[in-house]
Amino acid sequence: MNYKEALSNPIFEIISKAAQEMGVESYVIGGFVRDFILGRDSKKDIDIVAVGSGIELALKVSELLPRKPKVQVFKTYGTAMLRFQDIDIEFVGARKESYHFESRNPVVENGTLEDDQNRRDFTINALALSLSKENFGDLLDPFNGLEDLESKIIKTPLDPDITFSDDPLRMMRGIRFATQLNFDIEEKSLQSITKNAERIKIISGERIVEELNKILSTDKPSVGFLLLYKTGLLDIILPELTALNQVEEIEGHTHKNNFYHTLEVVDNICPNTDDVWLRWAALLHDIGKAPTKRFNKKQGWTFHGHEFLGGKMVKRIFERLHMPLNQKMKFVQKMVIMSSRPIVLAQDIVTDSAVRRLVFDAGEDVDHLMTLCEADITTKNPAKFKKYHSNFDVVRKKIVEVEERDHVRQFQPPITGEEIMEMFNLKPSREIGILKEAIKEAILEGEIPNEYDAAYELLMKRAQKLGLKKIEGK
Ligand code: ATP
Ligand code: MG
Repeated sequence: MNYKEALSNPIFEIISKAAQEMGVESYVIGGFVRDFILGRDSKKDIDIVAVGSGIELALKVSELLPRKPKVQVFKTYGTAMLRFQDIDIEFVGARKESYHFESRNPVVENGTLEDDQNRRDFTINALALSLSKENFGDLLDPFNGLEDLESKIIKTPLDPDITFSDDPLRMMRGIRFATQLNFDIEEKSLQSITKNAERIKIISGERIVEELNKILSTDKPSVGFLLLYKTGLLDIILPELTALNQVEEIEGHTHKNNFYHTLEVVDNICPNTDDVWLRWAALLHDIGKAPTKRFNKKQGWTFHGHEFLGGKMVKRIFERLHMPLNQKMKFVQKMVIMSSRPIVLAQDIVTDSAVRRLVFDAGEDVDHLMTLCEADITTKNPAKFKKYHSNFDVVRKKIVEVEERDHVRQFQPPITGEEIMEMFNLKPSREIGILKEAIKEAILEGEIPNEYDAAYELLMKRAQKLGLKKIEGK
């Protein structure tokens, strides 16, 4: 392969020139090189290593560029970044890192290119292309990363116990790359992850979640979650999920394995959405099932209230992993709490009022909820599978019809509480609540349309029953 093609962007000539003027070697390294060789659409970032000061090289490159873009300097990390044609270019000085077992922070010294490649996480991420004049475009591959790329192998450059123990996040990264690239993790590296799994505890929730989000954004997240499970990492990160991996039998009754079911649901969601939060909802939609599981002779296995408990568990998980506790968390909670509603609908004959209530309760999120619940159909019985899906089509059609007529998605009562108070000269009171609720219920039940006149008529009847008199002229 001609690697010069990878360096066709004029920025590489400029970096080369800047490095030469400074008398230092420079290399492109990591994801950019890997993705070029894989023919993978590379994301917009490029990592440059200078055998010398990365910050100075960045400043020099900026000087040579037409509009002298701003250089962001991160002094503590010894790195600098600039933007060129929408690409983030990160500069770092080659370094040697040595770790102590107790600490996350390595002792960092200046080093050679080879030292720098040694501290990289995987052989396929240690590939470097030279930007020096003498050997521009040469591939520097001390660990046979190229071979591993060809045989689709994730493998650490050093003894995996050292690489993973030094920075345990690399275990998650390895599993993430295996999932994204559809690679296998080399046996020794995989065993080492299992051995070092406990070390993940020193990594912050934010960094773990970043990797989980990337796994959830792949075409088949189950690949990553099964690896996390197999290595013992999932038990530490999300024990609520691994608790679902059980099948019990009492008196001939079994229940489905909700762990494998969950992974299937997550995979089912993927082709349809680019929304990582809906995938979180899929991942967590059944977590309430382990703690609510009961057996009784009449009904067999039950999971009463698992959706509600699951909703509570979502908050605890988000807190523990330092995830955002904002609208996103509320969305996931709502999806989990409502996750059985459309399925119940799809199993029975669907009435308009049931659909109206679903739309009223789900509001703007009703389409996401439908996507989640349709993904939840994992039955292996072809007749049932077909029936549930066609029932979902019916529900979807009804959602559109009902919404056109009654506008309950963003429900605004046709007569407000203030209007009722004025009409009957009432202060805020129990009666207002009763009357408002009566109007809302009649609309959801389909007894009256969501319109002022019909609501007014109903209001008058109900008010009379409560013994209320209307004020003339109001
Ligand atoms: P992507 O950007 O697609 O996630 P990438 O390989 O570019 O993949 P980055 O996180 O951008 O990953 O890191 C760039 C490079 O830095 C990697 O290719 C790898 O060489 C190195 N690197 C990043 N994080 C680590 C780490 N925790 N341990 C060792 N090397 C790392
Ligand atoms: Mg990158």
